[in-house]
Amino acid sequence: MTAAPAIAARLLRVTGVVQGVGFRPFVYRLAVRHALAGWVRNVAGTVEIHVEGGAEELEAFQQELRTEVPPVARIDVVELAAAVPAGAHDFRIIASADADGIRPVTPDLAICKECEAELFDPENRRFRHPFITCTNCGPRYTVIRSLPYDRERTSMAAFPLCARCEVEYNTSADRRHHAETVACPDCGPRVWLEREDGIALSEGDAAIRDAAAELRIGRIIAIRGIGGFHLACDATDDIAVRRLRERKRRDAKPFAVMVRTLDDARALGAVSAQEAHLLTGPERPVLLVERAAGSCLAPAVSPGLDRVGVMLAYAPLHHLLLEAVGRPLVMTSGNLSEEPIAIGNTEARMRLHNIADLFLLHDREILSRIDDSVARVVDGAPLLLRRARGYAPLALRLPVASPQPILAVGPHLKNTFTLVRGDAAHVSPHIGDLDTIESLEHFHATVERYEDLFRIAPTVAVRDLHPGYLSTRVAEELGLSRTIAVQHHHAHIAAVAAEHGITTPVVGLAFDGTGLGDDGHVWGAETMVADLNGYRRAAQLRYVPLPGGDLAAREPWRVALGYLSLEPGVADAFALAFRDIGADCLITAERQIERRLNAPLASSMGRLFDAASAVLGLRQRASYEGQAAMELESLAGAQPAEPLTFPVRETGDTFVLDPIPLLAALGEQRQRGVDAGLLAARFHESVVRATADVAINVADRAGIDIAALGGGSFQNARLFAGIRRRLEARGLRVLVPRQLGPNDGAISFGQAAIAASLLARWD
Ligand code: ZN
Ligand code: ZN
Ligand code: FE
Repeated sequence: MTAAPAIAARLLRVTGVVQGVGFRPFVYRLAVRHALAGWVRNVAGTVEIHVEGGAEELEAFQQELRTEVPPVARIDVVELAAAVPAGAHDFRIIASADADGIRPVTPDLAICKECEAELFDPENRRFRHPFITCTNCGPRYTVIRSLPYDRERTSMAAFPLCARCEVEYNTSADRRHHAETVACPDCGPRVWLEREDGIALSEGDAAIRDAAAELRIGRIIAIRGIGGFHLACDATDDIAVRRLRERKRRDAKPFAVMVRTLDDARALGAVSAQEAHLLTGPERPVLLVERAAGSCLAPAVSPGLDRVGVMLAYAPLHHLLLEAVGRPLVMTSGNLSEEPIAIGNTEARMRLHNIADLFLLHDREILSRIDDSVARVVDGAPLLLRRARGYAPLALRLPVASPQPILAVGPHLKNTFTLVRGDAAHVSPHIGDLDTIESLEHFHATVERYEDLFRIAPTVAVRDLHPGYLSTRVAEELGLSRTIAVQHHHAHIAAVAAEHGITTPVVGLAFDGTGLGDDGHVWGAETMVADLNGYRRAAQLRYVPLPGGDLAAREPWRVALGYLSLEPGVADAFALAFRDIGADCLITAERQIERRLNAPLASSMGRLFDAASAVLGLRQRASYEGQAAMELESLAGAQPAEPLTFPVRETGDTFVLDPIPLLAALGEQRQRGVDAGLLAARFHESVVRATADVAINVADRAGIDIAALGGGSFQNARLFAGIRRRLEARGLRVLVPRQLGPNDGAISFGQAAIAASLLARWD
């Protein structure tokens, strides 16, 4: 036997974000650099690497695999095993193997810097090609039909590679080596512009230039993008923006604006370093930034608010369009009011023809519907207000693995669902409010898609306590072997605790608009001692009757009237709340309160903000839930203020905060001419101090040093930062939402975490 160099072999299985992010080409280059032979392939959601060669080289390879991982990839686990050398002569990327296991699907990634440069380089063969991508960028979740991620299992399968693209695809040194979405003007999808009556006007680059010209004269265009359609118009043209509002039947809820570059974004709002980082990242969320004084934006974009939602172009098509328009564009989801966004060309023609003047279409099929994500930087860190494109379908980990596969169906509004196997929680993208047939269909289609992609067949359903929610009916109709009901605010707190891996009891502050309590009343300002297995309600707001029920969320004066019915003596101080309300409306509402007819009792932070807005004479009616609270926050700004009195009573083992003296003081001071902004600031300070102090008290008595903040009210930056700092100043560790938002989008994850923990205990 001749002495051959010592050959060793290793088998590595890599889990994380490793498919659709150029991971295999990266492994290839790394192996070649270290003169190693072997192969790499996708196996289900993981990447399997077989390498053989010198021991030192193998060592270096394993190390650099972790340290030089591409920016959009993420390695969670590398399982390592010794292997038998196979006598390989070179290193190859080989065909995918199908198998069971956890199957991460990559989110859609914004166009990368290299592709953007090529897009505008006249010398490049993909100059102005609206579907330019590479291994580091482009659509993923929205084009994947099934796993493993290979072109033949994506909607790009309809576009056979031309000879030149094929060479790039197969050349290991090329940055499009194994880029499954690779395309060029010769072989890729195409775009065209269509009239509202279906007549095609132009195609290719001409279509983009024509669309831009039409946008510049105030037209509304439905644009097919990555996860669905947008409705676009010139964001500097107030008439066009108002026309879009009218046609879309959306009165005042702010519109998102898209610009091409970071500098363009800076012309619209103040952008901190951290906000710039978020704006330019591969996720490209809509980011709420402070609106610049004197910006060119039309007032109708975000009426009454000091912030504006801005996102940077993320598809090459957006770049081409924005460059040609030369102005910021309103880019709002392509739907009517709260319906799901349209994704198909035919569907869009049907559903959007009364809204859009023109359609900018393309022929790459969108296989998963997904909205733009929305984020905000609060207290120095990003807070997700809507988790969708760029984030979903990345999985989260549960602190307690579930012995059975679970489908947690989420809440009624801002719905998401969570599909669980083991400790992997697949939180769906934002689905929306489950109160139309369309949104229910969207829900079912996405569940089916998730079950299919991740190969999970749930046997346990988890739902909200509320018997009337559509999601509850959905859960019951699944006919699974077991259904678990979870209280809404318990789910809020569990979501935050679980995301941080905490299973011990915490003092949870769950502040939002509404959720059914276990006493049958409306909850929404709850402080609980909770863990994943249960909770004890420790503090609440004094119950107030809400005449008209759900109507009260849109008509703040009703909440004020409810409080007034408890203390008729403060009528003078509350006078501004009813200034413009007709006598017959008032009489009907009073009767509802008296007879306890359609006047549910509520402890709700959202409604308290509404009542404050009403007694300050700011808003008696709102056009969307949360409008009054958002305006109050804008009005308060960052100005310092002293708190007003906000008394706390103790009944049994719960604290009850009584906001009536606070509301009366606000109304009375406003009528004396005190500045509304200062009073809005005082209101915020009062709520911060009273709720934080109660939570500190609860924590002391229970001997707990961890707090958790959850619920939609924590989208309010002043409330969030104020309460957090006050709790931290008293030595509490404060858990805040990071991977999921504070609002109801996190409920399904909380439901899943609770159910998994309970199932593990019962087993
Ligand atoms: Zn790229
Ligand atoms: Zn091609
Ligand atoms: Fe909630």
